[in-house]
Amino acid sequence: MKSILARRTRHSKFTPVNARVLIDGPSELVFDYAIPAGLDVRPGCRVRIPLRRKSATGTVLSTVEPEQADFALRELESLIDPEPLITPVLLRTADWIARYYGSSIESVIRSVLPEGVRSEENSAKTRRVAVVDGAAPPEVMAKLEKRAPRQFAILSLLAHAPGFRLAVADLGDGNAAALKAMEKAGLLRLETEEIRRDPDADNVEEILESKPLSLNAGQAAALDVVLSAVADPEKARPILLLGVTGSGKTEVYLQAARRALDLGKTVLVLVPEISLTPQTVRRFKSRFAAMQDQVAVLHSNLSQGERFDEWHRIRKGRARIVIGARSAVFAPLPELGLILVDEEHENTYKQENVPRYHGRDVAVLRAAFEPCAIVLGSATPSLESWNNTLIGKYELLRLDQRADGQSMPLVRVVDMRLEQTKHKGGPAILSDKLRTALEQRLEKGEQSILFLNRRGFARSLQCTACGHVCQCPHCAVALTYHRTDERLVCHVCGYQSIVPRKCPECRDPGILLQGYGTQKVEEVMAKVFPQAKFARIDADAMRRKNALRDTLAAFKAHKIDILIGTQMIAKGLHFPNVTLVGILNADLGLHVPDFRAGERTFQLITQVAGRAGRGDLEGEVIVQTFTPHSPSIQFARKHDFDGYSEQEMEFRRQFSFPPYAHCAVLTSRSTHERRAEFTLQTLHLRLAEDLPPGITLGEVLPSPLIRSHGQFRFQITLRSHRARPLTRHVQQILAKTTLPEDVTVVFDMDALNF
Ligand code: ADP
Ligand code: ZN
Repeated sequence: MKSILARRTRHSKFTPVNARVLIDGPSELVFDYAIPAGLDVRPGCRVRIPLRRKSATGTVLSTVEPEQADFALRELESLIDPEPLITPVLLRTADWIARYYGSSIESVIRSVLPEGVRSEENSAKTRRVAVVDGAAPPEVMAKLEKRAPRQFAILSLLAHAPGFRLAVADLGDGNAAALKAMEKAGLLRLETEEIRRDPDADNVEEILESKPLSLNAGQAAALDVVLSAVADPEKARPILLLGVTGSGKTEVYLQAARRALDLGKTVLVLVPEISLTPQTVRRFKSRFAAMQDQVAVLHSNLSQGERFDEWHRIRKGRARIVIGARSAVFAPLPELGLILVDEEHENTYKQENVPRYHGRDVAVLRAAFEPCAIVLGSATPSLESWNNTLIGKYELLRLDQRADGQSMPLVRVVDMRLEQTKHKGGPAILSDKLRTALEQRLEKGEQSILFLNRRGFARSLQCTACGHVCQCPHCAVALTYHRTDERLVCHVCGYQSIVPRKCPECRDPGILLQGYGTQKVEEVMAKVFPQAKFARIDADAMRRKNALRDTLAAFKAHKIDILIGTQMIAKGLHFPNVTLVGILNADLGLHVPDFRAGERTFQLITQVAGRAGRGDLEGEVIVQTFTPHSPSIQFARKHDFDGYSEQEMEFRRQFSFPPYAHCAVLTSRSTHERRAEFTLQTLHLRLAEDLPPGITLGEVLPSPLIRSHGQFRFQITLRSHRARPLTRHVQQILAKTTLPEDVTVVFDMDALNF
């Protein structure tokens, strides 16, 4: 794809310049328009343009020198906003995203400048207020009391109102004439004021100011490096802050933010999930209590009005701290001084629909373009970021101790192969050890969390006697069981084998398909512990608005003894009374047909372990698994990131997986199985012709979720050492291929799901 900025030219009084405009609307039209004399049109400006016989709106992507044939170009009509709504840095970032991920520039601009912000229908919400400078003199009041009791009442109210102002609406009906008369008599002023639609308005807990803590040596050393990056971002590299759970990374973030703000700069904080924004907002508002109203929240769940207000507050420099999920990476902060990406390893930073960007990687890029300091924080960094520290692209800072001197929780591993014999006929859900541990907590009035890994959609074959999992000999990922034609398939390279009747390792016939859901767990638990109070947190149970918030509040208030949940509750939560965390099926995450399965399992166990024992009580974690010897489980048990990453990196290197190569997925989907498959086969043939060197093209395969939402899916995995040639090749082939109308093809660069 050609860069939208490729023909960027400078303004000059003498050469006429055209504007390249992306027209609003679904059909991605980009046209050049002549700029009328005297109009200061810059990239990122919103403009009104003629389109056929109508008038339309659009965004200026770039200003370009006219080509010969351009003489008859129509002129654009007017500028909507005098200042560009998109900063040059964000425009440059958008251009990079479009090319790197092979997304349309329209889809990227839509993310950078969301609908609710650019649409003219939306505007600031205002109200009329009555204002006085202070209490009226007693003689005036005395006069009014007799002659105009209504006016007297209004002035009395105003004299006691905060700031001597009151909303007209709050004065009640029937006061319009009185107010007008009073304005005329100079007794008060009537003004229009903006009211902010505050997304954090529900967050009613009182905010108490928090004073900076005195840092321990590790924190102080880390802060030092971050501060010099804030002071001189041109010279700094992105920083990876690897700190164990509870090591006090947040305190480092807060003190670094303070410095950036003191320097007159602004701060962007990214968190991996919308549900985690309120608690982060609270922490920042507490620390920056005097400037609470300068904290803005930005994420995809805001109402249009909230987004409009927050976005414009940010752009005008009125909100200097922005906290949000992935899409907040496009917050229009002026003078950006520091970006903090918390839990940088989280998958949720990758957008699952167009444009499929990775929020963390875009943040790193934006920081380089600004330039500003950037800190990526995690207890379990992604191997991509870890590798970047090894090759010197990122700077590594470490916090290896818990900040308040607590010890790391004890992690115990339970071998489910020994339990399975007691559960003939059904899946072993609860081991004796976990059951006993739960009983003890119930007796002591302490709380527990049970995690169920839901990434186990794809079905793998595992022996219940020895724990053996059928794997691809070429890729070392779990093979996926296909029921329809009774075979095992590797979803990376296409290797196939028959389904064994006995375990290939120990010859036991007890080879089984894994899988049970949260509902099943709740059922079993209710039978085992009829006296306990349960709640379930998963996508199904949490459909109702505020269901998550209410359930977590009930858990905090100890109205619930045992919380059963999926990854939704794996991170960020802080419940001091939780002393036990059980992971029911560590294997399900481990044997999905994905080379990141081990990494995710390590991360999950480590993060979950971080939830236990956060108060004064010591925490315990019980991990149930059929493969207790698995490195991800063993290293997580010992809280050993270095040991883990070393062996995992070796595996990635051997099989050419990220971070040693870029991995992308091309997916087709349709309600017609044959057409979905045929389309992808056609693309495969074309991709294979003139395949640029260094790109490995996998086979056409059914997706792990072969059929979802009534659609059939097929996929190809591609790998390459360099990202750009891969994206370019796929884009070129896609541009040349006419797809059947009922088949959708999707390209996902640096895909996280296979
Ligand atoms: P992380 O984000 O690294 O998991 P937190 O920032 O949540 O860790 O810190 C864990 C706990 O340690 C918090 O209760 C925090 O207030 C406390 N803490 C952080 N830094 C210090 C310090 N320097 N001295 C004492 N307590 C600290
Ligand atoms: Zn394979």
